[in-house]
Amino acid sequence: NLSTKLDRAFKTLKGQGSITEINVASTVKEIRRALVDADVNYKVAKEVTDKIKDEAMGREVLTAVSPGQLMVKIVYDELTELMGGEKQDIVIKGDPAVVLLSGLQGSGKTTFAGKLASFIKKQNRTVLLVAADVYRPAAIDQLKVLGEQIGVEVYSEVENKNPVQIAQNAIQHAKQNNKKVVIIDTAGRLAVDEEMMREIEQVKRAINPSETLFVVDSMTGQDAVNTAKSFNERINFDGVVLTKLDGDARGGAALSIRAVVEKPIKFISTGEKMEALDLFYPDRMAQRILGMGDVISLVERAQQQFDEEEAKRINQKIRKNQFNFDDFLSQLEQIKKMGNLKDLVGMIPGMGKAMKDVEIDDDAFKPIEAIIRSMTPQERANPDIMNGSRRKRIAAGSGQGIQQVNNLMKQFDEMRKMMRTMNKMSQSKGGMLQMA
Ligand code: GDP
Ligand code: MG
Repeated sequence: NLSTKLDRAFKTLKGQGSITEINVASTVKEIRRALVDADVNYKVAKEVTDKIKDEAMGREVLTAVSPGQLMVKIVYDELTELMGGEKQDIVIKGDPAVVLLSGLQGSGKTTFAGKLASFIKKQNRTVLLVAADVYRPAAIDQLKVLGEQIGVEVYSEVENKNPVQIAQNAIQHAKQNNKKVVIIDTAGRLAVDEEMMREIEQVKRAINPSETLFVVDSMTGQDAVNTAKSFNERINFDGVVLTKLDGDARGGAALSIRAVVEKPIKFISTGEKMEALDLFYPDRMAQRILGMGDVISLVERAQQQFDEEEAKRINQKIRKNQFNFDDFLSQLEQIKKMGNLKDLVGMIPGMGKAMKDVEIDDDAFKPIEAIIRSMTPQERANPDIMNGSRRKRIAAGSGQGIQQVNNLMKQFDEMRKMMRTMNKMSQSKGGMLQMA
């Protein structure tokens, strides 16, 4: 599925010290392929990955995050944008307010009608459901069963075969019975055809709804996008309801619809039960598609709180191979500001690897801090002068064992070795965007 494929694309970047033109190009190519495989319209996939590429190339990598993590964040931002950025609410206006549902047969209109009625009822508004599917008597019964289940009245006219009249009569009925919101469920067909389009067009013109929603089965992939286009050209709907996202939908419909028809997705339906309805949040959907919520919030937190000036200063020192214990201590301070150490420990250059198997809780850095604070200023500034007798003194002063002190020295040496290697790598490759 899409999220594992994207995950693979990001892996390319995982071990890298920086985002370079070469690894961006290959990662972006893989992202594009993953999107197309997930049924995202090719043009949309190309546009979004071009943007991702521009974004990635122009970006400086904070010391605090790996290029792979930053890339995930960039992709997440672009996908969120692609799906409309902000959440868009359904417009319920008028007395009564009228919501018209459209879509193919089997897309989930009737089920959604029930869900929406229940949703609106919970906001303490009176609702009337209207069965305007005049072709299938079973459709009326289906809506009645749902109405009973959620305690909402269902309006229907068994003999009447004119959906325009039924809709108008239902609105009259709502006015007389003090129902504030009218939800009209219409007939769909298995494929887009002229008769269905003319009918829904006529209903819309006659009742002037405050909201016309297009309901579409997300599992139909590219077809979902094409159907949305056809409906939008005829009835200019206000929003989209994506259904059956509980199935193994590949996510492509959610990603392309907004870009192709320029109408927001407003609801998602994730099951047959009446409760299985959610408002559509582009950012949450992007997170779901990427399946990497933790990384995203990690990078966001880092970006918010990381002191960039400090990062620059430390970077200078790393570049000149002058990273010392004072810098280490200041890095620890930075990291503690961000909370949750377990997530964040990997952010110190070289530290993630060194402490990979260590169980980390919020007190994990206390012994390290104690040891560093027991060093003299000269020792902190010049880690190379550390010898056996200094170590013994530091151990005694910090209340830690000599073993702990030795361990820290070893880790610190490894960190510096790693930094030197990173420096060499970045000097040998040209045109690199590495670290501020
Ligand atoms: P309509 O023809 O557009 O009115 O579609 P229906 O509401 O009758 O739904 C068609 C079928 O899809 C029914 O069996 C529903 O129970 C099922 N269905 C609707 N929405 C969802 C959903 O979000 N998830 C799943 N798994 N099934 C759904
Ligand atoms: Mg139906």
